[in-house]
Amino acid sequence: MKVYFLGTGTSQGIPVIGSQHLVNKSTDHKDKRLRVSVWIEWDDLSFVIDCGPDFRQQMLTSNCQHIDAILFTHEHSDHTAGLDDIRPFFFKQGEIPIYAHNRVLKNLEKRFDYIFETENKYPGAPGVSPIEVVNNNPISIANKEIIPIDVMHGNLQVFGYRFSDFAYLTDVKEVAQSEIEKLKGLEVLVVNALREESHPTHFNLQEALDFIKIVQPKKAYLTHISHVLGFHEEVQQKLPENVFLAYDNLIITI
Ligand SMILES: [Zn+2]
Repeated sequence: MKVYFLGTGTSQGIPVIGSQHLVNKSTDHKDKRLRVSVWIEWDDLSFVIDCGPDFRQQMLTSNCQHIDAILFTHEHSDHTAGLDDIRPFFFKQGEIPIYAHNRVLKNLEKRFDYIFETENKYPGAPGVSPIEVVNNNPISIANKEIIPIDVMHGNLQVFGYRFSDFAYLTDVKEVAQSEIEKLKGLEVLVVNALREESHPTHFNLQEALDFIKIVQPKKAYLTHISHVLGFHEEVQQKLPENVFLAYDNLIITI
């Protein structure tokens, strides 16, 4: 399995428009972060998690040619605003299967009504086939099984996803014990770490490190990072030896 980090930044992306913060002016490519997303190639299948406002650029940079499914974590714009840009995949492949909580599918249908239109649909609009994700019901795609992980982003439910020995969780603040059980025996865990200060709906760095200690994956990568966390190289030096800051265009194999 190959995991390509398409974006690792928090909702505004890094650099932040108009900001004079030094991290936003860094020339290190690891300090430039698009909105969070990963592309997972698992044998001959290709999955993308979330489809934010940087989707088009991410697909071009990563040279992704084909998508078997898009899995959404939740409806916030930094995870969904790029849905219209699936058009080139739709023109090549037909309707793109999208997997999400029923609440998220309803939200997308409201915001992108023309994509879900069934009568007099504009011929240039993309098409999707929506599939509801239900907690405790593994998702079957071809011969693969993906396990949804039900977590909380403040008061909002969010899905993480486990693919064999790899799991991806973002925008997490709280995880119930029942969901931690689903994360045992991982090779790689990806989890969000916003900054050092506490935040009402995201793990800060310490909370992410504490969570990694509980889950005990062999390796962990941090994502959904704010510029106020600091320079990539400096933050990386402070982390435990099996924990890494993810960065855009990082590719890992599991
Ligand atoms: Zn987010």
